[in-house]
Amino acid sequence: MLENRYTPPANIIEKRPYTVPHAIFSSYRQQRRDPDVRFRDVAIVKLKSGDGGNGKVSFLREAGRAMGPPDGGDGGTGGHVFVQAVEGMTSLHHLRHIYKAANGRGGGSTQLSGKNGENVVLQVPVGTVVRWSPPLDELKRMFHEAGSSADGATEVDIVTNLSRFDNDSLIQLRRDSYADGQGWLFKEQEEEHIRAQQYFRQLIPKVHHFDTINRRREAEQDTFPYEGIDLDRPGQSVMLLAGGNGGLGNMHFLTGDIRNPRFAKQGRSGLESTFIFELRLLADLGLVGLPNAGKSSLLRAISRARPRVGHWEFTTLTPTIGTIQSGLAEPSFTVADIPGIIEGAHENRGLGLGFLRHVERSGGLVFVIALDRPDPAADFQVLVRELGPKRMEKKRILVIATKADVPESQERYQALKEYLGSWGPANKYEWEIVPCSAQDNGNIESVIQMMAQTAGKTSQHATRV
Ligand code: GDP
Ligand code: MG
Repeated sequence: MLENRYTPPANIIEKRPYTVPHAIFSSYRQQRRDPDVRFRDVAIVKLKSGDGGNGKVSFLREAGRAMGPPDGGDGGTGGHVFVQAVEGMTSLHHLRHIYKAANGRGGGSTQLSGKNGENVVLQVPVGTVVRWSPPLDELKRMFHEAGSSADGATEVDIVTNLSRFDNDSLIQLRRDSYADGQGWLFKEQEEEHIRAQQYFRQLIPKVHHFDTINRRREAEQDTFPYEGIDLDRPGQSVMLLAGGNGGLGNMHFLTGDIRNPRFAKQGRSGLESTFIFELRLLADLGLVGLPNAGKSSLLRAISRARPRVGHWEFTTLTPTIGTIQSGLAEPSFTVADIPGIIEGAHENRGLGLGFLRHVERSGGLVFVIALDRPDPAADFQVLVRELGPKRMEKKRILVIATKADVPESQERYQALKEYLGSWGPANKYEWEIVPCSAQDNGNIESVIQMMAQTAGKTSQHATRV
């Protein structure tokens, strides 16, 4: 027996209050303002699935009969919203702020169902993570209330910190639609008259029961994993929001008591929700370094990737991924060149740390330290401080001391190595260091071998997965 009052399943959680750390709007606005942006790795998008079409009130017309039996069909289902991972895409900049799937059409005469609303399919790069987000204006309001208390957070941290759900918990999405036993449509101005009828009052509990069962199904389907959905397989397609079901046509309401039901049911409303799309490139290693450290030059030297090299602080504005094979029989691995970290990035200066989401999936971190700088150990400390311990957790660390061709590089390299000798054990990191020069290809072979090891992509490591 179903109860009339719906109680949500135990694993579904009500929305709880959440706190909003700093920085979501600064970086989001920055991206919106700049018309030249051809690369975006975060997008906040409002989505709406279509409403179900209404049921039809109609009666069979036959020659010689005033009015035949009811033949009004059901409304069509509202369009669903899907997200699909496609290969070859590298950015989220094409996403609009709002998408809405089409509504289902109303039912027709002669028992015809209405047409289903057309679906919306958002295509995103492989490696995109989709997470539920509060509506943007709500976030803004909370942001102003919170002030700038929590510094250094990115959009992703904000969504992560919304509240402390268990990892396997589900967020319940809610349809703004009619309650059980309601949502009637009446022919012409007959509502009052029909509602007063005994047969109609007897019908209500049955329809109430039917609605309850359907709403229960809806509620089970209208959830979203708190952890988000990781679209890491090409072609993978996931429904984010289901469209509303169509309403029943009057053909369903013919009974012994009701010979000419001049009423039908409304379609169920679609769902509306905001999601945050976050692109995490799928590279085995991420190059981390200060601007001008020589990251892009290094990637050019070790792979056929062609990132821009220059004297400017942010020559690299879009991550480039190079594929490297350390030997004929060795598995290949990928390395991402991401914009340089500057001091104060965690306070959201410069490009901030947003780009570092691309190293979050990687098994190893590669610090690129330039030996043309006076104090490489100090530069290393800046990087570690800006990255923070959380991003370095459980990662193998390789330090590449580049520009070894410059004078004084010898002493600087020794000083850096010495510093790491005490830093590594003190912080319980597995680390290695190798000098090289991207300019004259010095020691590039060992760099590649050591990178392969750090990525866990060598034939010795292959069995260890
Ligand atoms: P990124 O900002 O870390 O990507 O650094 P780039 O690769 O763009 O290099 C910054 C500057 O350092 C450029 O002028 C490069 O020519 C120079 N550079 C890069 N690698 C080397 C190197 O191995 N030796 C020397 N002497 N200069 C280098
Ligand atoms: Mg660069």
